[in-house]
Amino acid sequence: MRTLLSQEELHAGVCRMADQIAACYQGKQLTIVGVLTGSVVLVADLIRLLDLPIRVGVIQASSYRGATTIRGELSINSELMLDISGRDVLLVDDIFDTGHTLHKVIQRMREFEPTSLRSAVLLHKQGRQEVDIRPDFIAFQIPDEFVVGFGLDYEDMYRNLPYLAALEPADIADHAQMIAEAKLN
Ligand code: 5GP
Ligand code: MG
Repeated sequence: MRTLLSQEELHAGVCRMADQIAACYQGKQLTIVGVLTGSVVLVADLIRLLDLPIRVGVIQASSYRGATTIRGELSINSELMLDISGRDVLLVDDIFDTGHTLHKVIQRMREFEPTSLRSAVLLHKQGRQEVDIRPDFIAFQIPDEFVVGFGLDYEDMYRNLPYLAALEPADIADHAQMIAEAKLN
């Protein structure tokens, strides 16, 4: 796998974004809602960098399967989410690709009538957007490549990589072989 962003670069980018978020919510209580599962690493790092009174919750959105970028049916589960009505809310996700996921999650969350609703993402994939909205906070712009690590998965794996890597055809073949061998043992 080819490293796109090192652990140090990721840390610097998350710190930069945390500073922007802190400046925006100074003197306020903030409710952070992470989109499961890709945002868990970013949420964990971000909340420890924010010197604000914070509540943390999650919402579940599932669409893609594997490395395909063809959009499947998107399902949103807000049953796990904490109460956001009358709150200043920051929605956090791993990546803004076509934007459909964030757009739909925002629509669902507006039904609960938060006082304010902004969004923050680790990555913004260039040239892929299909919706009118844009995240309020973006840590990094990346080229149109399929990436894993720092929360992002391929077939539910690689989320634990501390760096961000581009997954190439040879990596996908290696992955398939690893899975096949694991099933044999
Ligand atoms: P969107 O709805 O913006 O097209 O896609 C958002 C979701 O698709 C992300 O939350 C993420 O789960 C998945 N996704 C999009 N691009 C990538 C990528 O390059 N790598 C991984 N691992 N997931 C991606
Ligand atoms: Mg996701």
